[in-house]
Amino acid sequence: MSLPDWWYGIVGLNPWVAILYTLVVTHVTIVSVTVYLHRFSAHRALELHPSLQHFFRFWLWLTTGMVTVEWTAIHRKHHATTETEEDPHSPRIHGLRAILFRGVEFYRAGVTADTIDRYGKGTPEDWLERNVYSRFLFTGIVIVAVADIVLFGSIGIVVFGVQMLWIPFFAAGVINGVGHFWGYRNFECPDAATNIVPWGILIGGEELHNNHHTYPNSAKLSVRPWEFDLGWFWIRCFQSLGLAKPLYTGPVVERVNGKNQIDMDTTWGVLNDRFEVMARYAEEVVGPLVEEEYRRADRATRQMLKRAKSILCREEMLIKEVERQRIARIVDNIPVLATIYEMRIELQAVWSKRGGNGEELLIAFREWCSTAEATGIQALREFVEELKSYSVPRLAAATF
Ligand SMILES: [Zn+2]
Ligand SMILES: [Zn+2]
Repeated sequence: MSLPDWWYGIVGLNPWVAILYTLVVTHVTIVSVTVYLHRFSAHRALELHPSLQHFFRFWLWLTTGMVTVEWTAIHRKHHATTETEEDPHSPRIHGLRAILFRGVEFYRAGVTADTIDRYGKGTPEDWLERNVYSRFLFTGIVIVAVADIVLFGSIGIVVFGVQMLWIPFFAAGVINGVGHFWGYRNFECPDAATNIVPWGILIGGEELHNNHHTYPNSAKLSVRPWEFDLGWFWIRCFQSLGLAKPLYTGPVVERVNGKNQIDMDTTWGVLNDRFEVMARYAEEVVGPLVEEEYRRADRATRQMLKRAKSILCREEMLIKEVERQRIARIVDNIPVLATIYEMRIELQAVWSKRGGNGEELLIAFREWCSTAEATGIQALREFVEELKSYSVPRLAAATF
C-alpha cells in the first residue's frame, strides 16, 4: 500500500531535495546572523545597503524570531564583560555543558531592560520593527513551519526541527560555549576565546572566535593564510555588487626596510599590531630558546620543558595552578628563559601606558628595547631589530 501524495508535500518523496533545502535555508540564516547581526549591527565593522539590511531582518524574523536590539545588546555586553559574572554566556563561569545545551536560556535571561538600554543603541526602531518584527515575534516561525510542511509533507516536520535547532545549537551553543573553551589561539587576547577550527564554513566564519575577540571590529574573521571565513566571502560578494563596504579589517601596519630608529611611528605601529607582535615574540624568541634548552637538557628538565613555549606565553587568566608552578620552576632553573619570560611580561605592560600620552608610551617602549638588547640574547636582539622597522602607513584610509 503506498502512502498518498499529500503525505510528501508538493516536492514529493525526495530526501536529497529536502537535505539541500535545509542546508541552503540554514546557511542563509547563519549568514544573516554573522554578517548582519554580528559584524554589522553589534560591531559596525561594515556598512550594508538598506535593501540588504531589510532582507536580513526579514529573514531573521522568519526563521529565528530573534530581535536585532536584543541580540546586539547581549553580544556587546558579552564583549564588554567577557569571562566575568556579568558575561551573559561564559562557559568559564557557567560550565561548557550549560552553555552548549542551554545557550538560548542564558541568552533569554540576559535580555533585561538595563542591558537593552546600555548596549542596544543604534539598532532599528522603525515602523516594521515596532509593528511587525517585535509585535508578531513568532509569526515568521509559524509561516516557515507551514511552508516546510506544504513543501515536504511529513518530512517537512524534520526539516523545520533542524531549522529551529540550527541557530540555538551552533550559534548560541557552539560559538558561545566551545568558542571559549576548545581550539587554538593565534593571539593571547585577554579572555579565553579560541578558534574552533581554521575553516569557518558551517557557522559562516564565526568558528574563528579567538581572531574575533582580538580584533572585534574587523569585518574579516580569518587572519592566517590557511584560515577561511565564509562570512567574509559573502561580504566580498556583496561589496562587488555595491551592497556592502567593510570599514575595518584589522590593524594596518607598515614595515619600512632599513628603518632602525625607535620613533613615535614605530611605537604606534607596534601598538596597533601588538597582538601579532606578541604572537611573534612567542614564535621567534620563546619557541627557539625553549627548543635550544630542550636539546641540551637531561630527562627531568625535558619533562619540565614540555609545552613550555605556550605556557610561558599564555594569557594570565588561562594559566592553571599546576602550570604556574611549572613556570616558577623554569624561571628558577633556567636563567635565559627567566629573562625572556620577564621581558614578555614587561613588553605586555608597555601597552598599558597607551592611556597616557604618546611620549610616555615612546619612553617605555624605548626602555624595553634597550633592556632587551642589553640582555645579549641573540633572538631578542633580532626581534628588537625587526620591531624598529614598524611604522604607520601614511595613507591608511586609502587601503579600506
Ligand atoms: Zn565570545
Ligand atoms: Zn562579537
